[in-house]
Amino acid sequence: MRKQIAAANWKMNLTLQQAEHLMNELMATPHHPTGNQEVVFGVPFPYLGRIKEMLAGRQNAYVAAQNCYSKKSGAYTGEVSAEMLQSIGVDYVILGHSERREYFNESHAMLAEKVNLCLEYGLKPIFCCGEPLHIREAGTENDYVKTQLTESLFHLTAEQLNGFVIAYEPIWAIGTGKTASSEQAQQMHAHIRSVMAGKYGDHTAESISILYGGSVKAANAKEIFGQQDVDGGLVGGASMVAAEFAAIINSLK
Ligand code: PEP
Repeated sequence: MRKQIAAANWKMNLTLQQAEHLMNELMATPHHPTGNQEVVFGVPFPYLGRIKEMLAGRQNAYVAAQNCYSKKSGAYTGEVSAEMLQSIGVDYVILGHSERREYFNESHAMLAEKVNLCLEYGLKPIFCCGEPLHIREAGTENDYVKTQLTESLFHLTAEQLNGFVIAYEPIWAIGTGKTASSEQAQQMHAHIRSVMAGKYGDHTAESISILYGGSVKAANAKEIFGQQDVDGGLVGGASMVAAEFAAIINSLK
């Protein structure tokens, strides 16, 4: 069975002290990722080492960077490379979050480079896709998301995509309190899986974990994660409240 993942995205929030407090609270709150379930903490770069240390000995718990640069190394002041992340034991990298696409002009081509570098250095991308509101209102969300997938992932081999992680995040549902209905989520997840199957075949498509992101919280996680093609969530706001995130983890299939 493919992996079911609850991934936290803290974005640019929390001091180190607040982050440690949150992790301590979460660890004191019963949550049990077992078997094919994973918990991933997408934390700011400066905290990756510390959070990894706090997770030592915990089963099925991993850290994710929220980005990496699209070049291997060199004169790119302020950037962080995939190799650097590998060297400190990072497991996952969130790539192409809508906030990065919008505020930092990340293009399909740049994201393809980032995906390549992550794979080269043994980091697992969580590749984000999703449409803005005007695209949803125009009814062209399927084509929009298909383009995001084809332009940044279709140069990969089936082997590289085996067990890959994609996060579908409708932009109109991120941080807005407005969640896609479980039917809307399922429809798009099934579409994403069929796009991947069309290029790589059913076997590869079935191995890909597709997470839903957009105002996931304890109250709606079970219903959304219960959909056939939804394999967990990428969670912003609610991942910074220990009781909420523990309940979300406990809602994984
Ligand atoms: C996100 O940060 O990717 C996200 C989905 O945020 P929120 O859960 O707050 O909508």
